[in-house]
Amino acid sequence: MNIVFLGAPGSGKGTQASMLSTELAIPHISTGDLFRSEINNKTETGLKVKSYIDSGNLVPDSVVIDIIKLRISLDDCKQGFILDGFPRTIEQAEMLSEMMLDIKDKINLVVNFEIDQDILIKRISGRFSCNNCGEVYNKFYKNTKVEHVCDKCASRNFLFRSDDNEEVLKERLKIYNKSANNLVEFYKKNNLLISIDALESASLIFENLMKTISKNSKIN
Ligand code: AMP
Repeated sequence: MNIVFLGAPGSGKGTQASMLSTELAIPHISTGDLFRSEINNKTETGLKVKSYIDSGNLVPDSVVIDIIKLRISLDDCKQGFILDGFPRTIEQAEMLSEMMLDIKDKINLVVNFEIDQDILIKRISGRFSCNNCGEVYNKFYKNTKVEHVCDKCASRNFLFRSDDNEEVLKERLKIYNKSANNLVEFYKKNNLLISIDALESASLIFENLMKTISKNSKIN
């Protein structure tokens, strides 16, 4: 099953994508993660995209398309995949449809994570993760039990995303809002869209998600 997750930064779609990836044994493909890994590895692509990401702007389509095309051509995508953070514009959605046609496949389901944007600002500007084990925290909602010590692995080394500050976040939300409605309409017209209330707890959202997916896989 090929699934697309739509939703503003901080809507929790990354967490859900990673839970669903484990449940369905299909890869979670986050364009943001792919770019951050390129930046960490100081690759040519990483150098190209760093300034866009740091300022909260969209990376040019040509770079995004190349990285996605390559990723979905890998063997682990044969049983399906979950796209998180792509497509972000109508142009990218159209390119995705073409890409799927080229490989004689299709997108089966698009999940839109709906959430109030004031809550998002708190969710995102508070988040950080352990640089050793990857455990995700939030200074407003889920802090470490002992200050500056990871609950899981006791590391004191934490990672704050450079684009998770309030100023850059507002720019990211502005850009997101510009194309969000169009994308939702695009997938509604294609009868692929379902919406999920992203304000619920992660476990309840996941339960709803699984119910919807199993209903849809019976229809498809
Ligand atoms: P994310 O982790 O999804 O919030 O993405 C972090 C950043 O990566 C975004 O603010 C963009 O700069 C870039 N990015 C991720 N996905 C895309 C995309 N589909 N198109 C353009 N830029 C992207």
